[in-house]
Amino acid sequence: MNFRNYPMGPFALWSAGFVLLLNACVPSDRQPPIIEVTVNGNPGEEHTVAAGASWNLVVDATDDTGLSQVRIDIHSAEGHDHGDGTGAPTGWVAYSGTWEVLEIVDLTGTESQTTQTFAIPFDVRGHWDLVVTVVDEAGNEATPVVIALDVENDIIPEVHFSSVAGVDPATWTGEPVWPVGSWVDLEGQITDPSGLASVELHLHDAAGNLLWDWNVAVQGATVHVLQDVSIPLPFGYQGEVMLHVTAEDVFGYVCETGFHAEVE
Ligand SMILES: [Zn+2]
Repeated sequence: MNFRNYPMGPFALWSAGFVLLLNACVPSDRQPPIIEVTVNGNPGEEHTVAAGASWNLVVDATDDTGLSQVRIDIHSAEGHDHGDGTGAPTGWVAYSGTWEVLEIVDLTGTESQTTQTFAIPFDVRGHWDLVVTVVDEAGNEATPVVIALDVENDIIPEVHFSSVAGVDPATWTGEPVWPVGSWVDLEGQITDPSGLASVELHLHDAAGNLLWDWNVAVQGATVHVLQDVSIPLPFGYQGEVMLHVTAEDVFGYVCETGFHAEVE
């Protein structure tokens, strides 16, 4: 080969080879993005956040070829886990309020930082899941980051049962089972730092019919102890029941919580 007649020869050959190499690589981009998530500046799988306040989420994402989207999903942790078996809740948690977030933010480039601020409704209490995922332009999805948000609440009343039908709900591993026609004794207390106004209990059947109710006017006490409260289960009913607890404080802030049970 006469390089003086073909001055670009070797470069052209090398260049053609590089293009072939690129063609072989680009369609098989299977490398998912890498993400790092912080809550209020802190990494970790569990964070405590306060109802009625705001908190800050930062998602740092990198990808070898190009980022596409970040997905931020916040939902109640009640009744499910995220497959790895860790953190599966045992015992009754006094969930209150509803709070759902689903945000999808477009990303560009190979490095991106997403910052979001979220406000928690004042009537929310319990465990919430924050699930963050990122996809790249080829559709590869990063391993989702699952973070537990423990929502503390100093605003609404707090309901605590120490014993339900003789069992501490903290030891429940699923729905409690009560015999048909039995009496279900409730022990526990309702508290509120600014003072309670009223406490109501309702038991509904699976169709939503009221089976039993109970209420008391508390008149400003910060603690109301549940005493001699016993639910008579009707002899004619077996199946799912739901106990609703509604506690209101002197400022009108309301906690609504409860649990399901099986009557058989
Ligand atoms: Zn979840």
